[in-house]
Amino acid sequence: MEPQSTQSHTEQSHTNEDWQAIREAVGKLCRDFPDAYWREVDKQEKYPQEFVDQLTASGYLAALIPEEYGGAGLGIAEASIILEEINRSGGNAVACHAQMYIMGTLLRHGSEEQKRRYLPPIAQGDLRLQAFAVTEPNAGSETTRIETRAVRKGDSYVINGQKIFISRVKQSDLMMLLARTTPYDELTDKTRGLSVFLVDMRNIKGNLEVQPLDLMINHHTSTLFFDDVEIPADSLIGEEGKGFRYIIDGWNAERILIAAEAIGDGRWFVERAARYARERVVFGRPIGVNQGVQFPIAQAYAHIEAANLMRFEAAAKFERREKCGAEANMAKLLASEAAWEAANACLTTYGGYGFARDYDVERKFRETRLFSVAPVSNNLVLAFLGHNVLGMPKSY
Ligand SMILES: Cc1cc2nc3c(=O)[nH]c(=O)nc-3n(C[C@H](O)[C@H](O)[C@H](O)COP(=O)(O)OP(=O)(O)OC[C@H]3O[C@@H](n4cnc5c(N)ncnc54)[C@H](O)[C@@H]3O)c2cc1C
Repeated sequence: MEPQSTQSHTEQSHTNEDWQAIREAVGKLCRDFPDAYWREVDKQEKYPQEFVDQLTASGYLAALIPEEYGGAGLGIAEASIILEEINRSGGNAVACHAQMYIMGTLLRHGSEEQKRRYLPPIAQGDLRLQAFAVTEPNAGSETTRIETRAVRKGDSYVINGQKIFISRVKQSDLMMLLARTTPYDELTDKTRGLSVFLVDMRNIKGNLEVQPLDLMINHHTSTLFFDDVEIPADSLIGEEGKGFRYIIDGWNAERILIAAEAIGDGRWFVERAARYARERVVFGRPIGVNQGVQFPIAQAYAHIEAANLMRFEAAAKFERREKCGAEANMAKLLASEAAWEAANACLTTYGGYGFARDYDVERKFRETRLFSVAPVSNNLVLAFLGHNVLGMPKSY
């Protein structure tokens, strides 16, 4: 019996023609960037510039930019499908996803002047918005404790401090930066006192040192040292001191998009594992005939489909501008766990070949592990649910 497509019942219940068209078009673009391309990019630790250029030229990276600013004016569900299809094809959307998930902060809180200045060239591909600088070595997951200071001096802000794990700074012109504008001890409400800046890295004064980190995955991630970096005062997004709230708003979009990438990975693992299980013959029969091989793949598949439903539930609420923190966080939690489960099932199914780079499983295995940790650790997601949704005491 021929296997059914893994684009299944849950998929169909959400599918409309536009979504299907996006899937097919992105899938077609991705076919020009096969496994061998991503394998080589990974091996050389290169940035997949050709792929990102193609994605930009096709307008997909401008999916969330409204049409009046030259973008496609699509919603978060469509944007998530684009990223999912990249990962499902065997690629890695992290090379370019930040532009999509940072966009909301600019769109929802930026001034009209900022939007007119930046969005059309971003949509055109003349300007890259790929870096988002929040994490710091001392604060870790406790974002309200960040120490990087931005001090207003006349028409400028002067920035001093350190960020860690900041991805794609060298592949970006603009960086969304969260910095402290009021000292922590002077605040009664500790969620205040932080501000968001859209830093144009092409013309800053002072010294911004970018020190690459050597990581398990090809992610172009660095430590940043700000030494009297001076930026124009009009780089501030929205009001001073409200940056943490703006960033939290953006986090829901980020969670939905990351969930979609994990789902794309999960589908890649399940499709590859099921195919290998049908084709690999040991003891005179396909290994997939053994339930010890078959069931873990089927189980992972079921979990991916469940996470997928939560992803679209979160996206629908996000579009309606309803509270969607719980759904967005659950989508990210469930999808990252399901992808990891699928990764393990796939690696096991491939046996020793799972470790051979030529089969791409080990690369995707390393890549998908990130989703449980970044951009937010799943423990923090559980803490959010436990405290904010279930009313249990806060652990922090
Ligand atoms: C490849 C990569 C790319 C990244 N890119 C970016 C980027 O572009 N921009 C950016 O700003 N950041 C980026 N990050 C940082 C990422 O968001 C953080 O690593 C992540 O949020 C976790 O923070 P931390 O590493 O400081 O962990 P910590 O906060 O030190 O936590 C360590 C462990 O303790 C657990 N823990 C801490 N507190 C609690 C608690 N109260 N309850 C239960 N468990 C707890 C955590 O869940 C985690 O498992 C990136 C990280 C990686 C690895």
